[in-house]
Amino acid sequence: MMSLPLYVQGAWFLGALLFIFGLKGMSSPASARKGIVLAGYGMLIAIAGTFLVPGLKNLALMVAALGLGGAAAWISGKKVKMTDMPQMVAIYNGMGGGAAAAIAAIEFAKGDAHSTVTTILAVLGALIGAVSFTGSCVAWAKLQGVLKKAIRLPAQNAVNVILALNAIGLGIAMVAFAPAKPELILFFFAISLILGLIVTLPIGGADMPVVISLFNAFTGLAVGFEGYVLGNPALIIAGIVVGAAGTLLTQLMAKAMNRPLSNILFTPMVASGPGEAISGSMKEVGPIDAAAMMRYASKVIIVPGYGMAVAHAQHKVWEMTSILEEAGVEVKFAIHPVAGRMPGHMNVLLAEAGVPYDKIFDLEEINGEFGQADVALIIGANDVVNPSARTDKASSIYGMPILNADQAQNVIVIKRGKGTGYSGVENALFYTDNCRMLYGDAQPMAGEIIQHLKAMG
Ligand code: NDP
Repeated sequence: MMSLPLYVQGAWFLGALLFIFGLKGMSSPASARKGIVLAGYGMLIAIAGTFLVPGLKNLALMVAALGLGGAAAWISGKKVKMTDMPQMVAIYNGMGGGAAAAIAAIEFAKGDAHSTVTTILAVLGALIGAVSFTGSCVAWAKLQGVLKKAIRLPAQNAVNVILALNAIGLGIAMVAFAPAKPELILFFFAISLILGLIVTLPIGGADMPVVISLFNAFTGLAVGFEGYVLGNPALIIAGIVVGAAGTLLTQLMAKAMNRPLSNILFTPMVASGPGEAISGSMKEVGPIDAAAMMRYASKVIIVPGYGMAVAHAQHKVWEMTSILEEAGVEVKFAIHPVAGRMPGHMNVLLAEAGVPYDKIFDLEEINGEFGQADVALIIGANDVVNPSARTDKASSIYGMPILNADQAQNVIVIKRGKGTGYSGVENALFYTDNCRMLYGDAQPMAGEIIQHLKAMG
């Protein structure tokens, strides 16, 4: 690696530092916005540093690529709906993996002599990046609804293993016979890309966000390896930071869904069998009674879920909360780690609506309090409050930790109809004696409750 001027290395170092501080900021909703802006400046400085590398070629191509990519990201970032954010993350992540694989491909194609360690890292980065690229594209297609069915091959796991072994074998050959012949390079990339496709196609939509997080970790690792190949410390550090964060997030999500990672990747999520028989019936309530139950309560715990996001009801929910608090009711928000369609989904929406962070509680913090709540108000949540996860061994969500909303004196559920949650499992909570259903879209329903609360004074 040629030695670079101090100002280039300094710019990359500063960029890397800003990535780390940015990530630190993202660990709390209060500082997350500042964190992402810091990381953005880090990226800007790292790119500027790259343009200062002496003897740079293809400047016009670089500017064109930056312009095109930047414009596409700016426009799609402005337009994307909050509910479509997971597929947006998937496709951006795929681009990162693809870029890492492309860097390796160019290095192999140049055929320059590299040390064995550098070649090994280039091959590893190429393999992981290529898998992440096609896998993330499949994840995007599934979440976007372009690909509606999980496609499972006969002997799927055996096919996965054979493809993986082939990719690894070809990778070893690339190192052993470096600089590799073009046919070997092509074959290696083709198998790696197919591996990403074949591994991801059978995975169901409900598991997809965990898979995206895993591919995110892969992309980070691939970028880190290629950073080493290029001798670019900003890429190495950014890659390691993304790799570590993605790995931790994957573990957290898998734990919150009680689905071991191996299970997510290699065992299809089957619809549950008949399961425990649910007795009782769903009982309806009107907005005026729901308003009265909360207005004369001492403590209300609100459980938001995916439906609140779809309905964009967060602002109305906060307005309703403020009116209740003014009337002397204690109101808290209970957030399940996988409520919605991505980690932190509910926190982001509530923060956007202005709900103070000290009113928002995680599952472990709040679960003991439902027993003292007069009302648990569930807004567009379903799976995360399904008590069959505790008892019904036949259920696909068995073992998933849930919010103990059923332990409140009264439960009010706002949802449009009798639709199931993401897992497709019937919710036993809706049939219990203390539960009332308030049917309707979450936003107008919250609006009606607000009108009745105001009328009650
Ligand atoms: P669910 O998907 O279980 O349920 C959402 C409910 O909202 C539905 O039953 C639906 O019922 C209702 N709903 C939809 N639109 C509206 C609307 N406009 N107004 C009112 N209600 C509406 O959501 P949860 O948040 O409880 O659970 C999240 C699920 O996603 C879990 O199964 C989790 O494992 C999964 N998941 C989450 C991830 C994450 O990171 N957050 C990652 C991977 C998976 P109806 O149609 O009757 O209105």
